[in-house]
Amino acid sequence: PDKCGIDKLPQNEYNNIKHVVAVMSGKGGVGKSSVSALLAVSLANQGYKVGILDADITGPSIPKMFGVSGLPEQGDNIMYAKETDKGIKIMSLNLLLENEDMPVIWRGPVIAGAVKQFWTDVAWGDIDYLVVDLPPGTGDVPLTVLQSLPLDGVIIVTSPQDLANMVVRKAVNMVKYMNIPVLGFVENMSYLNCPDCGKEIQVFGKSHADSLANTMGLRLLEKLPIDPALSELSDNGQIEKYGRELFKGLDDIINTQVTS
Ligand code: ADP
Repeated sequence: PDKCGIDKLPQNEYNNIKHVVAVMSGKGGVGKSSVSALLAVSLANQGYKVGILDADITGPSIPKMFGVSGLPEQGDNIMYAKETDKGIKIMSLNLLLENEDMPVIWRGPVIAGAVKQFWTDVAWGDIDYLVVDLPPGTGDVPLTVLQSLPLDGVIIVTSPQDLANMVVRKAVNMVKYMNIPVLGFVENMSYLNCPDCGKEIQVFGKSHADSLANTMGLRLLEKLPIDPALSELSDNGQIEKYGRELFKGLDDIINTQVTS
């Protein structure tokens, strides 16, 4: 049981999931889903078996980024995660909606229940790393995931716009309060390379990454530029083709957390 006396959900008979990592942000639009996707792609490229549990239920963009659609296969009380070209397994509410343009008009507890079912009622199979894309902020669903899934750690995504803000600190403190390791943070949209001269332009002002690293004692995992190629590939369902090598060594960081 965690600090609040809540037990972690057990794995079902279909699953052998070794590590679970959640990706969180203080607010929306900082690139949390993109980072979740890139993290999964990077781990898959390193030879690991990877899944993405899309818990960002009111803004589920993961299937679209990977060009995955259509109803998942179903068995007796179980649903099979869908696979991308690279073999990354995905489950998302967007795969279950008849019309992906329709909003999910559910209250917090119902949404939180659906996210739990993505753990209990989905056949993921053998997974080395399950990446959980959380909704932005510190609401109901992040709380449910932090409480009920056996997380190895959380990665925080920030952008220079919101680093000065207290929302990132709130997210970090929530994770720490739940006794879950913060593996580090990613500063997204950190800068833009001028297409003509290559110079780095700090579009949103000076990076606050160093000060966040120092004041909160967090490890900076990656600093990602604003990259039109990334948003284009995402929009076309081809994020797996993004060439930049990211998150090298994260597997070691996670394993150190687990054994320490
Ligand atoms: P969040 O999950 O935090 O709401 P998303 O990952 O959905 O954010 O990103 C929001 C939008 O910004 C998407 O259209 C995405 O393609 C784009 N985006 C995110 N990160 C970058 C980046 N580094 N460069 C260019 N576009 C980006």
